[in-house]
Amino acid sequence: MKVLKFGGTSVGSVDNMKSVMQIITDGERKVVVLSAMSGTTNTLVEISELLYKKKQKEATKLIDKLEAKYNKVISQLYASADYKQKGAKHVKQVFETLKSYTTGEFDENGEKAILAQGEMMSTGMFHFLLLENGFKSALIPALDFMKIDEELQPDLKYITEHIEPIMADVADADYVITQGYICLNADNNVDNLQRGGSDYTATLIGAAINSEIVEIWTDIDGFHNNDPRYVENTAKINQLSFEEAAELAFFGAKILHPSTILPCKKRNVPVRLKNTMNPTDDGTLITHDPQGKGIKAIAAKDNIAAIKIKSDRMLNAHGFLRKVFEIFENFKTPIDMITTSEVAVSCTIDKMDYLEDILVDLESLGEVSIDTDQTIICIVGHDLIEEKGHQYRIFKALEKLPIRMISYGGSNHNISILTCREDKKEALNALSKGLF
Ligand code: ASP
Ligand code: MG
Repeated sequence: MKVLKFGGTSVGSVDNMKSVMQIITDGERKVVVLSAMSGTTNTLVEISELLYKKKQKEATKLIDKLEAKYNKVISQLYASADYKQKGAKHVKQVFETLKSYTTGEFDENGEKAILAQGEMMSTGMFHFLLLENGFKSALIPALDFMKIDEELQPDLKYITEHIEPIMADVADADYVITQGYICLNADNNVDNLQRGGSDYTATLIGAAINSEIVEIWTDIDGFHNNDPRYVENTAKINQLSFEEAAELAFFGAKILHPSTILPCKKRNVPVRLKNTMNPTDDGTLITHDPQGKGIKAIAAKDNIAAIKIKSDRMLNAHGFLRKVFEIFENFKTPIDMITTSEVAVSCTIDKMDYLEDILVDLESLGEVSIDTDQTIICIVGHDLIEEKGHQYRIFKALEKLPIRMISYGGSNHNISILTCREDKKEALNALSKGLF
């Protein structure tokens, strides 16, 4: 069985929802994961922000505006009065839920519940669309099986155990529809897999039910070999390994939520990226098989801070790095890149929530300096370290640009370079010219 996930744009209008119906209804049984209609989650975030600020009137206005938008979609999506009514009833329930948060105290649980409503609507509406068109559809609530633990990590064992009986219950449905993004947390409250998390839902389900493939349908035709927002004439990549795709997603390629690949990698379920607007294109296939050597793609990630800790105490001393890492760990801040010399260590972070506290604690270890507004440029491919010549071509391409850090040899399929954001566009273009 396949798992197909459609993003916000793919379900973002009446026409697009109907296109998705066309794509999925080929008679083959499948699971279909949907995002919220595009723009909805952003509006729900805005509503929550207003409610935190006790601007309940403004929040209500925004809710009403969103409701009008959905009512319009409902009036166009269905052909029959019966389904118009069913759709309207479903959406009305959701808006009643939203409105229930506009009085009284507002907290994180309220926010999480509000953020979940976009996917509740899109899936319900789509399920009714399938039914109206005579297809055997079943809607299974993601909250019945999707779960994260105390560390906010998906609990694949729980998910597997819980989705199995649910899938058996809906054995006679051809199309099993569920919500992306939303889940229960360790306290059994509604939560989510972070923005863009519907991809992650799909690969978690794919891994849990051991599906034949997970297809992520978006509005681009797959991974490109460079960032199309900054570089002209980028080319689509036909095939990547799980490792290569994970590095690209993590280091900036916006097409996938960074953790998406992991569950499928773990259970060896292939992932294919597909374009809803161009459904006959093969997109990008991601499997264990790297298919060819050499440099395949470049991605860039902004908003990076590089922190340098310099100390003579590092000379010939052991335990220094542990102390440095401990400070980042105490503030739950992951380190992305790291380079060391005998008397200094530089590391990069992209989570700035505790930056001030981290800097204060690091001062106790040595002289600390920070460069903000940096960009990691990540060059991804197969066997980059073992094959000769790649390093030369990379540095030749970047010969005119200042480089703040280089990470080489950490893995076989990634060379990362840190530069300031101002130089990003030039660096990406120079690399494209020099490498492809
Ligand atoms: N609707 C959520 C978001 O906009 C999840 C997703 O689309 O993947 O982030
Ligand atoms: Mg997305």
